[in-house]
Order: sequence, then structure tokens, then C-alpha cells
Amino acid sequence: MIVAIDGPAGSGKGTVTKILADRLGLINLDTGATYRCVALMVIKNNYNIDDVKKIEELLPNIDIEFKRENGEEKVILNGEDVTKEIRSKEVNKIVSQVSAIIPVRLYMAELQRKMAKGKDVIMEGRDIGTYVFPNAEVKIYLDADVEERARRRYKENKEKGIEMSYEEVLENIKKRDENDKNKKIGALKIAEGAIIVDTTSKTIKEVADEIENIIKSHVRKD
Ligand code: C5P
Repeated sequence: MIVAIDGPAGSGKGTVTKILADRLGLINLDTGATYRCVALMVIKNNYNIDDVKKIEELLPNIDIEFKRENGEEKVILNGEDVTKEIRSKEVNKIVSQVSAIIPVRLYMAELQRKMAKGKDVIMEGRDIGTYVFPNAEVKIYLDADVEERARRRYKENKEKGIEMSYEEVLENIKKRDENDKNKKIGALKIAEGAIIVDTTSKTIKEVADEIENIIKSHVRKD
């Protein structure tokens, strides 16, 4: 079974997906993290964002693993724990541009499909229900007001020790929204058949309960 959770930055996808994966025993695949890994490699190699050829050459050498250690989700890139690094200001700045590069999108979408093969997964991203798994059994589109999303991300960054002002976070989210909605492949949009859940004034638990009910009612129907 594939549960696709799409939506913009700060809509609550990450948190809700983790909770639901735990509750329902599904494998959690954070597709944003795969693009963040590419962005980190671009930074580490000192490549220019316009150097598509060089970025494309990086792709076959990228090995990504999601691990759960002491109840925490870890992202391992080529054997190295990059969980925190991929959430840095520098990565945030370039990740949506990196993810708009067509060869990157094609490669990563295929990698995501491979990672999900034969498993019951809950996948969060921007284009899971529209492009990566258009036949996903359950499709959810999470949304929230942009200011609320920025407040959440600002708070989360603070807790993780990432220094960014609220204004910087808001600006970054607005830019990423814009980039994400205008991608040639895998643009952020509401998938056909998706159920829209607005999380602006809901608690995480309320959102998780609502989606859990949607998933369960779907499973019962089949
Ligand atoms: O979800 P997260 O904020 O970690 O994603 C980082 C970036 O990766 C997004 O801003 C978006 O540009 C890109 N992304 C994407 N398609 C996905 C998931 C993320 O283009 N399925």
C-alpha cells in the first residue's frame, strides 16, 4: 500500500507522516530528504547550481538510506549521518532549485519508486500523488496558511539549533512555494483524487487522527 502525503513546506507533512508510520506500521519515506541530499552534495562539491552536467554526474554516486535509531529518523548519505546537515540554511536556500533540475527529478523519482517497491509505505513530498505514485491507494494534500507554516518551521529550527530569523524562514518558504508550484515535472499541486486537509488551526494529533481515519476507511473499503 502507498499512502501519499503531499503539500508545501511547513504544512505538517513530516511530523504527521512519522506519527502515522509508527501508528500503522508503515515505512516512512521522506522524499524531500532525497532532494536535500543532492543539494548537500552540490554544496560539498562546490558546484554551481547552473552546472547541470556536473550535478547530473553526481547522481549515480548518491546512496541514501533512512534509518531509525533510538526512535529517531536518520538520513545516511554515502555512509555518513547527514540528518542535521540537510536541514541547514545553505541547503534550504538551494534545494528547490536543485530539485527542479529535470535529470535530478527523473533520477530521484525513480529512486523513490525503488525504495518503496514491495513495501507498505507512507511517502511525503510534493509530487507523490501526482507523479511518483499516481495510483497510490490513499492521497492526502496537506495545507496551511503561509505565516502559520513559517511559524512552525521557525520553532522547529530553533529546537534543532538552526539559526534563522522568522522573516528569513518566511521568505525562504515563499520562494520554495513559488519554485515548487512552477516545476516542469512534479510541480506541487493537488493530485486527482486527493483529500485536502487544512492544518492551519489544527493540532498535530487532530491532523494525524483525521488522516488515520481516512487511511483506515480506505483499507476497509478494499
Ligand atoms: O519537504 P522538504 O521541505 O524537506 O523538501 C525540500 C525541497 O525538496 C522542497 O522545497 C521541494 O523543492 C523539493 N521536493 C520536491 N519533490 C518532493 C519533495 C521535495 O521537489 N517530492
